[in-house]
Amino acid sequence: MADKPKLSMYWAASCGGCEVALVNLNEKILDVDAAFDFMFCPCLLDTKKKDIEALPDGAIAITLFNGAIRTAENEEMAHLLRKKSQVLIAFGSCSAEGCIPGLANFHSRDALMKAVYLDNPTIDNPGRILPQPETKVPEGMLHIPVFFDKVRTLAEVTDVDFFIPGCPPEPHQIWNVVSAVVAGAPLPPKGSVIGAGRSAVCEECDRKKEDKKISRLFRTYEIIPEREPCLLEQGLICMGIATRDGCGALCPKVNMPCTGCYGPPEGVMDQGAKMVAALGSIIDIGDTKGLAEEEIYQRIDAILGAIPDYAGMFYKYSLPGSILKGRIA
Ligand code: SF4
Ligand code: SF4
Ligand code: SF4
Repeated sequence: MADKPKLSMYWAASCGGCEVALVNLNEKILDVDAAFDFMFCPCLLDTKKKDIEALPDGAIAITLFNGAIRTAENEEMAHLLRKKSQVLIAFGSCSAEGCIPGLANFHSRDALMKAVYLDNPTIDNPGRILPQPETKVPEGMLHIPVFFDKVRTLAEVTDVDFFIPGCPPEPHQIWNVVSAVVAGAPLPPKGSVIGAGRSAVCEECDRKKEDKKISRLFRTYEIIPEREPCLLEQGLICMGIATRDGCGALCPKVNMPCTGCYGPPEGVMDQGAKMVAALGSIIDIGDTKGLAEEEIYQRIDAILGAIPDYAGMFYKYSLPGSILKGRIA
């Protein structure tokens, strides 16, 4: 119906999981349909870009924008949807913080192209051809979007009203936001994180927390943790201490450590730095009295050796949105 507020959902550099999360509203998706004219969503609807361009500015009530900004097409759509939307929401970790695609920021564009199109053992590319933004063919010029050197968050390229975290956001949290909008509830201040809590996952995790001291770290395949004690206290790196609450501590509930997908809690600028600082304060290397500096370092290394990939562990979801952002040069 033409008089319903328009809702759009767009994917940029993403995996499609955020769309699945919306569909996972189950029967409540009918309430979304009743309240909105759901008119743009490339993976579900056949609306074209030119249809969006033809709309008056601000014609779309809400756009849920998932995915990071990896290509010129991602950026162009971010600007277009900003112009056409009253409320633009960075939906999900990729859009809000860069998420898994953002880990590519540790490598240059050229290194990524080489790894994918030249050195990949499953690629047959004898001409060593790399994708180009423009390629002349007998029928004319072929264009593909420019692949940027770095992944950026949505807020780095345009003005964002709200952020809904999660990889993907939990359906019950999406529903909280949608139903509040439908009910005409007052919106929080611009720039707020919505559809999540303000504290840390540890606050909603019902595992027993005692004095956290770790003398050994384990990777998840090495132990089957006990059901009740805190996973971090059992030597598994659980990011709950440095991650925003709101998911209901889903992962610790099923005996898996939190990997941090809801991003940093309110007031924390850098999730990875927060976790490293927390870890530094709870690692126990035993009595160091009389030990040489070298021996102390060896003890520390022996514990930290269980972390094979620091960036993947501490910045799995947040690298482009962090202070680090990626490689320096
Ligand atoms: S936030 Fe997670 S689920 Fe959503 S698009 Fe990114 S990787 Fe996929
Ligand atoms: S560190 Fe993990 S397991 Fe421990 S209380 Fe926090 S969320 Fe729960
Ligand atoms: S426990 Fe952590 S990783 Fe798991 S859903 Fe919640 S925030 Fe995401």
